[in-house]
Amino acid sequence: MSILKVARLGNPVLRQKALLLTAEEIKSLFVQKLMDDMVATMREYEGVGLAAPQVHESKQIIVIESAGSVRYSEAPNIPLIVLINPVISYYSEEKADGWEGCLSVGDFRGVVPRSTSIKVDAIDRNGKKVSIDANGFLAVVLQHEIDHLNGVIFVDKIKDLKTLSFLKEYERYWIDRKI
Ligand code: ZN
Repeated sequence: MSILKVARLGNPVLRQKALLLTAEEIKSLFVQKLMDDMVATMREYEGVGLAAPQVHESKQIIVIESAGSVRYSEAPNIPLIVLINPVISYYSEEKADGWEGCLSVGDFRGVVPRSTSIKVDAIDRNGKKVSIDANGFLAVVLQHEIDHLNGVIFVDKIKDLKTLSFLKEYERYWIDRKI
């Protein structure tokens, strides 16, 4: 497995709509290795999710995992999820504000409103259809990662730019405050 270079804010690859994968492509060694490398990269940089455009591959693949992340110490445990061609087929009307960051944006945090529960239809790495009903933290991470596949970054959705903070300042001034 290889640790891949992460594309940072300003790189046009982050603003493109990622390509859908065919069944053939999903089976290919290239895509199977890409998924392994994305997982290794997410773990190396202590993210809780990563989308293929963030590693310079404009493809509809996301990986999510959370297990005692240092970057997101408040995050609950989420076992590894790998999704291909994911589509959000249901969004709850109810939304909640939460702090988000992104490996492509460095040490920034900002408050983003997200639906509190969603349904995602996708394909797993073996080519099988899967559906996930998600709420809370997982719903937020899924919305954040699927946005990446459509060229959208969380900073686009920050409700009030006055919340945009460096990680250190977030920890010092905001972490215990109600948004
Ligand atoms: Zn991100």
